[in-house]
Amino acid sequence: MEKFFKISLAISLLLAVFFALSFYYPDVGFWKKEDGGAWKNGAETEEIRQPYLESDGMAAFVPEENFEDELRPPLDRVAERVSKKPFGKFVTPQNSPVSPERFSGYHTAIDLEVFPEELEAEVKVPVKAICSGKLLSKRTASGYGGLAVQECEIGNQAVTVVYGHLKLSSISKNIGDEIGVGEEIGVLGNGYSVETDGERKHLHLGIRKGSDINILGYAQNEAQLSGWIDPCLYFCGQERE
Ligand SMILES: [Zn+2]
Repeated sequence: MEKFFKISLAISLLLAVFFALSFYYPDVGFWKKEDGGAWKNGAETEEIRQPYLESDGMAAFVPEENFEDELRPPLDRVAERVSKKPFGKFVTPQNSPVSPERFSGYHTAIDLEVFPEELEAEVKVPVKAICSGKLLSKRTASGYGGLAVQECEIGNQAVTVVYGHLKLSSISKNIGDEIGVGEEIGVLGNGYSVETDGERKHLHLGIRKGSDINILGYAQNEAQLSGWIDPCLYFCGQERE
């Protein structure tokens, strides 16, 4: 009988200590007092969950890097237009999707084709600046016809942008002029004319790393190609306005 009494006393003491501790540290105990005065299981209350999430870093929102503010596509429906020569495609006169082909090498740009309703010479296809920056060059160049080169920054990195096969006389900005993102640079040259140096009506869009002017349309090796950025990284995902 005395043994039973001692065991009961020990259990009572343990329970008393447990309850005393959970009242003294309510936030770490199983029980938490709500405003109404009722006791509730703390694990189900927001007060405990929120600090946990914040300290765990889960509540912090980290937006994906995007360049929506500084970049815009030069034409609409870019992904649909890149049907013949994507970035980095190795082209030879034998395998080219374009015939006749006079170039060979890795394509340093993307070619944006026109839709059937844009094919006619009378249909003007305005090309917009993909970024904000100065016009570095406008001239006629072999393989391009009319050409514009613009300097820009993408994510604080200097780049130059090559817009090939434009109608030279439609480029109204002068060298050194600032061109805002989305502003018209010029219109596409007419196919198989001097405006495109005999090429079909389309836009050749290249983004070159750095600030030196380089209008190379085809790289002869992968090291050369690495000096260029695939414009599809920015424009061939979801459409942006
Ligand atoms: Zn091209």
